[in-house]
Amino acid sequence: MTEKKVVVVSTGGTIAMKHDPEAGGAVPAVTGVELVNAVPPLGDVCPLEVVEFSNIPSPHMTPSLMGKLSKKVDDILAEQDVAGLVITHGTDTLEETAYLLDLTLTSDKPVCLTAAMRHADGISPDGGKNILCAVQTAATEEAAGKGVLVVMNEEIHAAREVTKTHSGNVKTFASPFWGPVGYVDEGRVIFRRESLYREKVRPASLVEEVYLVKMAAGSDDLLLNHLAEKKVKGIVIEGFGRGNVPLSSIPGIKAALKARIPVVLTTRVLGGRVLDVYGYEGGAKHLKELGVIMGGEISGQKARIKLMLILGLTSDPEEIQTYFDKL
Ligand code: ASP
Repeated sequence: MTEKKVVVVSTGGTIAMKHDPEAGGAVPAVTGVELVNAVPPLGDVCPLEVVEFSNIPSPHMTPSLMGKLSKKVDDILAEQDVAGLVITHGTDTLEETAYLLDLTLTSDKPVCLTAAMRHADGISPDGGKNILCAVQTAATEEAAGKGVLVVMNEEIHAAREVTKTHSGNVKTFASPFWGPVGYVDEGRVIFRRESLYREKVRPASLVEEVYLVKMAAGSDDLLLNHLAEKKVKGIVIEGFGRGNVPLSSIPGIKAALKARIPVVLTTRVLGGRVLDVYGYEGGAKHLKELGVIMGGEISGQKARIKLMLILGLTSDPEEIQTYFDKL
């Protein structure tokens, strides 16, 4: 047991919800203090403090709120008597918050996000065990310097790699093609590997006007043209496979580039990077030659968060490219 405390910052999500007969479904109902008090074994791990940041479903989380959370977390971690920090969050946008924090936090102290798939008054809710494992991880010295971690279902995942993979099952968070970095076994926090690639993007403020466009067979350029006309600040495209798009979408991509909007290419598949291996029209090579930025191997939703942060530093496409497609 560490002498220093772990701070639990509650933001909302199913973990803090109960069934409301009037609303006909689960709604925010539980405070951070109530969440912690409902898990007595937490008292044996380390001293705890609870900070109520918000109580929202995570579909209501916004990048600017994530930015505020990042500042709050850094302030808390700067305190001498704080060993680490746990954030309770909804699962829907958890990976985006985790990734934004991973890119922006200055502290190396452990930060673990956790959540629940079953609401607090459902049958066998998973929130209690998840908070316990997250606090145990955050209180462990070995968890420092590993970037932001996601602790769910007794597994520990790296923010850069993790994604929600199932809409209802408690085993929803996975790091496809990588696997968890470790696990928690009856209080023992065991790391088996590390997510090696570490990077930071720390603007004074982020630029929220960045849009994610997903490609499907035959997608045209209606949405892209609209975004180009609106002169939005950035576009992330989720293409097929290696980063290829339908012919009918290309005029819209050209319109966006002509409007000097940075366009970042990612892939809609779960693993691997976009790469200029195809020479046909609409292949990533063609798009790269047009001036599209290669997004590397992160998902569309994470590339969007990253582009919002980068745009707080630069809007030059060549400079933006240096932040993407790294190792
Ligand atoms: N819709 C919920 C949320 O993200 C789902 C969850 O927390 O599991 O807030």
